[in-house]
Amino acid sequence: MKSKCSILIHIVLLQCLVVLVASQGFDFFYFVQQWPGSYCDTEQSCCYPTTGKPAADFGIHGLWPNYNDGSYPSNCDPNSPFSPSEISDLQSSMQRSWPTLACPSSDGQQFWSHEWEKHGTCSESVLDQHAYFESALGLKQKVNLLQALTSSGITPGGSYSLTSIKDAITDAVGYTPWIECNKDSSGNSQLYQIYLCVDTSGSDLIKCPVFPHGACSSEIEFPSF
Ligand code: 5GP
Ligand code: 5GP
Repeated sequence: MKSKCSILIHIVLLQCLVVLVASQGFDFFYFVQQWPGSYCDTEQSCCYPTTGKPAADFGIHGLWPNYNDGSYPSNCDPNSPFSPSEISDLQSSMQRSWPTLACPSSDGQQFWSHEWEKHGTCSESVLDQHAYFESALGLKQKVNLLQALTSSGITPGGSYSLTSIKDAITDAVGYTPWIECNKDSSGNSQLYQIYLCVDTSGSDLIKCPVFPHGACSSEIEFPSF
């Protein structure tokens, strides 16, 4: 009886181990890009990076591991601090594609460090620090949101229906995005962030298993930057 029991316990423990090893600890990524014009024309305003005013283009906000039920892990590994030396070869691409707009002005290290520690450490089992940042930069290259919008006649400085913005991106990218709005200093709803979903390898877009919550007006501004 005693040995049967211990064999059973061993089998259960083994199964737990298999499940732990096989899972990445998350189901997909949100790849989130921000429109700098909408970050800057809010009541809170913005500060340009010490490296200069960013291009009038979408910038990366983050690559965020998520669960299919809409919840997400965060700050998964306190023993894995952001280490600039591991991504020194990516520095200039990071400054171009992942600029910080928070005040006071900085070179971006704090923003990247925050993103790595809060989100990146939760996908460490598949992407180390270099691979994590390289994946986000690769996705930005692959998905040209500004081109998708402008080629449908949606250009900065105008006001557009939320549907026309979603359709333009869906047509160009092949997947329906999630649009997050914020408010300008006069309270108008505007295009702030665009979410796309990515498989756990960090390289391919997928259909979003779940969308975040929140709403935009049916007509939103796309401010110039
Ligand atoms: P907010 O509350 O402003 O929407 O989001 C604040 C921060 O929480 C985001 O910048 C991001 O770090 C995290 N966050 C918000 N929603 C999600 C989500 O659906 N998935 C993940 N992974 N992170 C999120
Ligand atoms: P999340 O919202 O991803 O949790 O974190 C955003 C954090 O990064 C905030 O503490 C914010 O102050 C800082 N941050 C630095 N630069 C930027 C930026 O350009 N955009 C956004 N959304 N947050 C930034």
